[in-house]
Amino acid sequence: MRILISADMEGATGVTWPADVEPGTEQWQRFRRMFTGDVNACVRGLCQGGATEVLVNEAHDTQRNLLLEDLDGRAAMLTGKHKPLSMMQGVNSGVDGVVFLGYHTAAGTQGVLSHTYLGNSITGVWLDGVLASEGRLNAAMAAEHGVPVLLVTGDDLTCADAADYAPGARQAAVKECVSRYSAICLPPQRTAELIEREAAAAMAGAGRVPGTPGPHRIEVEFDAAHLASAAAIVPTVEQVCLLRVGFDAVSMTEAMKAFKVVTAIAAGAVEKVYG
Ligand SMILES: [Zn+2]
Repeated sequence: MRILISADMEGATGVTWPADVEPGTEQWQRFRRMFTGDVNACVRGLCQGGATEVLVNEAHDTQRNLLLEDLDGRAAMLTGKHKPLSMMQGVNSGVDGVVFLGYHTAAGTQGVLSHTYLGNSITGVWLDGVLASEGRLNAAMAAEHGVPVLLVTGDDLTCADAADYAPGARQAAVKECVSRYSAICLPPQRTAELIEREAAAAMAGAGRVPGTPGPHRIEVEFDAAHLASAAAIVPTVEQVCLLRVGFDAVSMTEAMKAFKVVTAIAAGAVEKVYG
């Protein structure tokens, strides 16, 4: 039983503030230890539940946040940027389940540090007409490969989101959202117990099933008109209105590749102050 953990940081234990997850800051140095603690609790639980191999794919910012020297010896870590499948790299390597650890809610919704890929410039992403978090997008990619989502960790609203896009997954809420920048947080000892217990139970759902490839449409809305114009130069991407682009793809994997290009081009067009 091989399990993939896609590890984002905004939904990690204690995180409520941009500096907590911005590489290089003092607070980030502190929170990356708690982030690593969440991952280790998950690895312990998965192994208790029958996992024989765990791959941790770093999915936050520079994708160099977790402390390899403190990682549970039963896991291996995929670290660093520029991976073809991004947050979901490894989902196509024959894994029997995936965990979304440290996830967060979508741009345009309530939740601690809610956003979708870009911090602020993207105001909403729609997958086949449904407002989509990174979790919803990644769950569609997992489904295409026949890989069940076993467990989602993050704030309580992230767990509520997961209940909708992955109803079969277990959940571990490590904090209760009060606002986008505040939450009632459980200390690491308690979140570790919670994550470990839920990860062990989640292994009951492990096991690959036939994948469900099929076409998908993604629409992306920006907070400024020039970002939509910039994104619309990508082949297959059309500007559907002043602030929005959309594209159709033959599969979720192809859709996410196009989405990655759209976000990269838009990020490159963001100017300080005016956005
Ligand atoms: Zn994220």
